[in-house]
Amino acid sequence: MDVSPFTTEFAYVIAAALFIYGLKLLGSAATARRGNTISSIGMLLAIVAALLDQGIVEYQWIFAGFLVGGAIGAAASRLVQMTAMPEMVALFNGFGGLASLLVGAAAITGDAGLFTLVTIVLSIFIGGVTFTGSLVAYGKLSEKISSAAVQFGGQQVVNSVIVIAIFVSGYMFTQNPETPLWLFVMIGLSLAFGIMAVIPIGGADMPVVISLLNSYSGLAACAAGFAINNNILIVARSLVGASGIILTQIMCKAMNRSLSNVLFSGFASVSSEETVVEGEIKPISAEDAYYILEAATNVAIIPGYGMAVAQAQHVVKELTELLEKNGAEVSFGIHPVAGRMPGHMNVLLAEADVPYDQLLEMDEINPRMENMDVAIVIGANDVVNPAARDVESSPIYGMPVINVDQARTVFVLKRSMASGFAGIENPLFYKDNTRMLFGDAKESIGSLVRELGNS
Ligand code: NDP
Repeated sequence: MDVSPFTTEFAYVIAAALFIYGLKLLGSAATARRGNTISSIGMLLAIVAALLDQGIVEYQWIFAGFLVGGAIGAAASRLVQMTAMPEMVALFNGFGGLASLLVGAAAITGDAGLFTLVTIVLSIFIGGVTFTGSLVAYGKLSEKISSAAVQFGGQQVVNSVIVIAIFVSGYMFTQNPETPLWLFVMIGLSLAFGIMAVIPIGGADMPVVISLLNSYSGLAACAAGFAINNNILIVARSLVGASGIILTQIMCKAMNRSLSNVLFSGFASVSSEETVVEGEIKPISAEDAYYILEAATNVAIIPGYGMAVAQAQHVVKELTELLEKNGAEVSFGIHPVAGRMPGHMNVLLAEADVPYDQLLEMDEINPRMENMDVAIVIGANDVVNPAARDVESSPIYGMPVINVDQARTVFVLKRSMASGFAGIENPLFYKDNTRMLFGDAKESIGSLVRELGNS
């Protein structure tokens, strides 16, 4: 079918508008699903317009790919556990990078100009790094390989040499595009660099790395878009590149760490002095906690990584309903890096059907904290550590935290006195108004639910 260039470009503009509107809707949990649907419609439109524009007459391979890819995607979205989402995103990014590498390689023609050749080099380089880097990130997150940071003397020098070699082979390729040798050298080195860049980063920092690789996958495909002269690929993947880097920045800011600190130093190497804690630990039983909760009219719930470990979100929802039945107003305080991936707590609480309007961001809940009768901290530690606010020598000093210590009473639900991700002491546990409810979060909340349910 013959389609005029105007029709194709018009369809691309509509698709781009749908992507941007979809992204806007993805900014809120309440509209995220609609945002996903709208963006998918934009993608379908873009694919159909691109296929018709190419004047392809044999569609059998395209349909075969569509069926196989669609079936794998549908099965994965059903089978993958919510907690394994970061790993799945890592794989998606990796395959996005591989696709850009292949598109770049396929765009090589004898009469390609210098600009096209440079964009081909970029799509192969960034695509290759994204592919293997994402596979390593996937392996570390899923613990298929050791999540420890692999560091050795002279690592930065080795990496620098690889990058220089990539640029040299890229340059040689642009001078001799007909000779496959430089192309293969460039591909091999890019794949090797992806591995080398990610192995020195510890497993706990993988969510930040994945967000950064997501941005790279966008840039790789953007370069591929220039290589094959496809405007919608350029627009769509610029959006991915930009949103990935914005998310990376948000995560770094929420941890009060620079991106270079995440990429090159590993958390353990942050120098710290021991935080001096005063006061004593005051354990509380579920029965005694119940008496305080029963009298509360304002309750804040602050979930953290431990809620994900305990899979306590459903029983937390039950607790919320019982407290509300008892006349209390309940809100959730969500820290941007609570858990181990962006939006971790939002996803878990959405799974348990906790209404979106009950979830307050850190900046919204902090001014209300003084009016809370009880703050229930469920498996959160670093994100409620007052040392980040008060102790200048603390490695997390300056990280914004939820000020639960300002509530009248604080219940901290955790199994032991073990530290959180940052591996540091938490003075909150020793404060006069804090009571420790020790045990698995799901069991402790289960006990509270039974007490409240029987009252
Ligand atoms: P933390 O890792 O600081 O603390 C989690 C706490 O949960 C632990 O103290 C642990 O104590 C407790 N816990 C574990 N399992 C259970 C259980 N079954 N029942 C009850 N408690 C349990 O979590 P936060 O959410 O407070 O902070 C997240 C940390 O991760 C931050 O330092 C952040 O910078 C970092 N991070 C976050 C990323 C993100 O994207 N969200 C990305 C990278 C890093 P105990 O063992 O005693 O039970």
